[in-house]
Amino acid sequence: MSRNPRYDILFDPVRIGPVTAPNRFYQAPHALGTGNQMPHTRAAMREVRAEGGWGVVNTGYCSIHPSADDMPLPYCRLWDDEDIKVHSLMVDAVHRHGALAGVELWHGAGGVGNRLTRMTPMSVSGVSPGSPYPGWINLAKSRPMDRQDIREFRRWHVDAAKRARSAGFDLVYIYAGMGYGPYQFLLPWMNKRTDEYGGSLQNRARLMQEIIEDVKEAVGQTCAVAVRFSPSELLEIPGETQESEAHEVISMMADLPDLWDIKSASWVVETRSARFCGQGAQEPWTAFVKPLTSRPVVGVGRFTSPDEMVSQIRRGVLDLIGAGRPSIADPFLPSKINEGREDEIRECIGCNICVSSYHDGVPVRCTQNPTMGEEWRRNWHPERVPPGDPEKSTLIVGAGPAGLECARVLGLRGFAVTVAEAREELGGRVTIESKLPGLATWARVRDYRTNLVQTMGNVDIYRGSPLSTQDVIDFGCDHAVIATGAHWTREVLSTNGTPAGEIEGETVYTPDDVLAGAELDGTVVIYDFDHYYMGGCLAEMLRQQGSEVTIVTPASAVSAWTFMNNEMAEIRGRMIELGVGIELEQYLTGFENGRVHLSGIYRASDVRSIDCGSLIIVGARSGNDELFLELSSDAGRLAKAGIDSLRSIGDCRAPGAIAHAVYAGHECARSIDPADDGGAIEWERARLL
Ligand code: ADP
Ligand code: SF4
Repeated sequence: MSRNPRYDILFDPVRIGPVTAPNRFYQAPHALGTGNQMPHTRAAMREVRAEGGWGVVNTGYCSIHPSADDMPLPYCRLWDDEDIKVHSLMVDAVHRHGALAGVELWHGAGGVGNRLTRMTPMSVSGVSPGSPYPGWINLAKSRPMDRQDIREFRRWHVDAAKRARSAGFDLVYIYAGMGYGPYQFLLPWMNKRTDEYGGSLQNRARLMQEIIEDVKEAVGQTCAVAVRFSPSELLEIPGETQESEAHEVISMMADLPDLWDIKSASWVVETRSARFCGQGAQEPWTAFVKPLTSRPVVGVGRFTSPDEMVSQIRRGVLDLIGAGRPSIADPFLPSKINEGREDEIRECIGCNICVSSYHDGVPVRCTQNPTMGEEWRRNWHPERVPPGDPEKSTLIVGAGPAGLECARVLGLRGFAVTVAEAREELGGRVTIESKLPGLATWARVRDYRTNLVQTMGNVDIYRGSPLSTQDVIDFGCDHAVIATGAHWTREVLSTNGTPAGEIEGETVYTPDDVLAGAELDGTVVIYDFDHYYMGGCLAEMLRQQGSEVTIVTPASAVSAWTFMNNEMAEIRGRMIELGVGIELEQYLTGFENGRVHLSGIYRASDVRSIDCGSLIIVGARSGNDELFLELSSDAGRLAKAGIDSLRSIGDCRAPGAIAHAVYAGHECARSIDPADDGGAIEWERARLL
């Protein structure tokens, strides 16, 4: 297939100072969860994007000095010459595919805790950014920077840029955004200085300008110098000569850097999930920049549609299409557009599991792309799988995310695949859950896979086909995979937080009941100890339908786990807007006579009851493993039926997030009659010299 000429503009080369990007696809700097500790994993995770056609591939934030230490969050670093070779590995990998490699040099200034290095953090005036969230509270506050500190701060940028050049990077960044480095100097509420670095905007911008000049002088002949800038807060401050101080900063340094990379000042806002915003949501912060500079401008916006990308360019918003999440979900997105295969793009669903993995301190994982993070240690490629045996037949029972991913990969491998799905609709839980408010994009997990398997001649799908044990035996395949999902239970917790049995009652419901259309009466209480999206989404849906709703949870926040994927604050805001009642830090101990009994988690004596017509318990899930258990209980019968292997995968085996089910489906499909190394994992570990 050939490229749609409508998308030709996306493949124009773009000059960035002394280097040229081969196209407009720009993997923007984004955290990867690997740091310098996992150089092979990191190099492979970046390389696959270069191979997939991204013209520029950047590192995540890269500390320039031990005084910028973000532990326990994984960041990479260029503190001294010893750190260079770790980066060369990635640069060489990216260059192998003709892409440019960039490094996001970063100093967190007062925004770091220096927990590892134990250096006193320093900031423009000793004012540290605050946070109400325990995970982000730094007990070590910052000290004000004196003139000597500022001189060193400039020198560290230059030294790191020279090291970056030695590592082979084509682009070096100066990070002046999101509360970090010279950005803190720009903000009048952080910058209280009375010297030449404080006061007027000219003075507040001085350090940023000096660093750009220093770095350009040091490496600007060979490396492009990019500036990452967050205008959102300065856009709120009226300028003296222009609309805002953000306009003035850009104008002041208009053509000084070789590239402007524009992003929100907040990590949470920058990574808003699809539940709260669509693609292109950062345009209000990026659109004003291009008229003020002749340098190329890049910005992100969870762009997955080539038409939207073209629109960004034609409307003069961006020159390069920045991507973090879309490049994780589909490293081959540019190649697919180039080859006229847009309908094969594995679109990001905006769920932010990737964000949560970075917060977990592990390599980024992705709901849509189970190979992300496994490129090096498991040798998994997002587009290629080892061939299987076309003579071997496989039966997959259940077409949820696990079953569909398993079918896609087995189909690609060449096996004869049959999928039996009990319902008429494919997709399992994602088909049901994508009807919840804000979760429509989740259906992409189904659509990407069904679109592909339906074109494969070796994959047959039977809808409306609930299989029994005997059906599986009668079918007689070489390999049977049971992917029958899970169901929610009515189990509650004891006041120790351990399972305490189920609550029974005619008006006690699970999310399955509600999503199947159960009619609820009176005030609805949602008891949520699942802590992810389901409790909040049901509350939102039921409020929209006119019910009075109260969420009760033992946690200190609604949907408490969503702190990890940056959704928590918006979910709480949405609950407040909708008038959902919120009862935090409460166990639910009983339900009778139209009231639920609550017990405070801190003191057993804090007991009370509140009105409840219908109770929805959003807590535990249990695998639908009866079919698997029955089949596996009789090895002789399996052997007689010629079934060589029987596996259960996904929620059936162990309920989890959609990402876990997709991963399980993928892993299973690669491990059936393995053609490669049998699934061996190479753990990346420190090696003694
Ligand atoms: P997962 O997330 O693990 O893929 P889902 O719950 O999303 O799990 O999907 C499981 C799918 O299995 C559902 O679509 C369900 O209808 C289907 N299913 C369950 N039991 C059977 C069965 N006995 N025969 C065929 N399909 C089944
Ligand atoms: Fe997109 Fe979710 Fe994958 Fe992140 S984890 S890249 S948000 S699909």
